[in-house]
Amino acid sequence: MRRRVSLVIALYMLLLCLPGGAAAEEAYERFSMSFFNTFDTIITIIGYAREKAVFEGVTQEARRRFESLHEVFDGYNAYEGVKNLYYMNQQAPKGPVEVDPELMSLLLFCKEAQPHTNGTVNVALGAVLEIWHAFREDAEYDPEGVSPPSMEALREAAKHVDFDQVLLEPETNTVTYLDPYTRIDLGSVAKGYAAQLVGEWMMESGMPSFILSAGGNVVVGDPPLDGRLRWGVGVQDPDGVIFGDPDANMDVLFVSGTSVVTSGDYQRYVVVDGMRYHHIISPDTLMPADTMRAVTIVTKDSGWSDILSTAVFVMPYEAGRVFVDSLEGVEALWVLNDHTVEMTEGLRAMAKSEGATNR
Ligand code: ADP
Ligand code: MG
Repeated sequence: MRRRVSLVIALYMLLLCLPGGAAAEEAYERFSMSFFNTFDTIITIIGYAREKAVFEGVTQEARRRFESLHEVFDGYNAYEGVKNLYYMNQQAPKGPVEVDPELMSLLLFCKEAQPHTNGTVNVALGAVLEIWHAFREDAEYDPEGVSPPSMEALREAAKHVDFDQVLLEPETNTVTYLDPYTRIDLGSVAKGYAAQLVGEWMMESGMPSFILSAGGNVVVGDPPLDGRLRWGVGVQDPDGVIFGDPDANMDVLFVSGTSVVTSGDYQRYVVVDGMRYHHIISPDTLMPADTMRAVTIVTKDSGWSDILSTAVFVMPYEAGRVFVDSLEGVEALWVLNDHTVEMTEGLRAMAKSEGATNR
């Protein structure tokens, strides 16, 4: 399921990013590449460069950086010599443990950002998320043979989700779990944070005119060098994706120099007994959040966008609207359960459906 969804997203990105035609700036050519081996998604980079060699040099290095960040933020696998998230979750309950500096940076970012999400995002919810993850894995192999997690098990796990019990000592990159049953899950933020780091590096590289799509996380560099002033990023129709139609978009957002991140109930899910169980869990109910289908956040920093997309997905629309309106430089588009689309004022100015263009 995941792979299929990722492919759909990739195809869709490619379609949206076809060149603008007559006004193409001749000195620059459009190139694209994709790879599948990081962050459980397909990553596609499209860029404008004078020569293919420039594009290849930049994207090879971008890929190398994604691969390295993937290893550090991987919560499921060990890698020789890498003190990653998996290693931390194994070792930190036993006492202080040294972790990779990039992991420490992401944890510090979470310590700073999480208090601004009204309790909707909690990277220390791992004990609860592990139960849901195991259920989804089992259901992928044997949807008939599994039952959803019991509330009793979820409530027991929810006793061990206090991020304040995770002690960070940045001077020595040391982490300690004061509550040994704590587990950290960085799924809500790691991909967007990694995309931001790679995107920032690309902005400084020889190819600042690019768009980088990592699943539902898009980092948009300088405008395309073909006469267009902005890149177009599709907002997918959740049911379109579920039923396998890559062209089923609800809208297109025209943007440059920002990030566009979507959280939705259609990205990772299983169906058991006719019920769809997706991967974003409300810390209140301990169940998949069910107040909307998807939310897209537009803001400069893709790590912040990623946290916010998960946070706003968990909030009921009305509360989320007040929350987003209170944030500087953050715009949002909601797809509600009845398929109604809501947008902040700033987002309207980017939306094709509201008359925005790439010229
Ligand atoms: P995606 O992984 O599809 O990009 P998100 O950025 O919304 O989507 O992150 C969802 C992931 O975040 C889940 O797979 C899980 O690992 C984690 N997660 C789910 N619910 C929460 C939550 N309430 N707080 C923190 N992390 C969560
Ligand atoms: Mg997120």
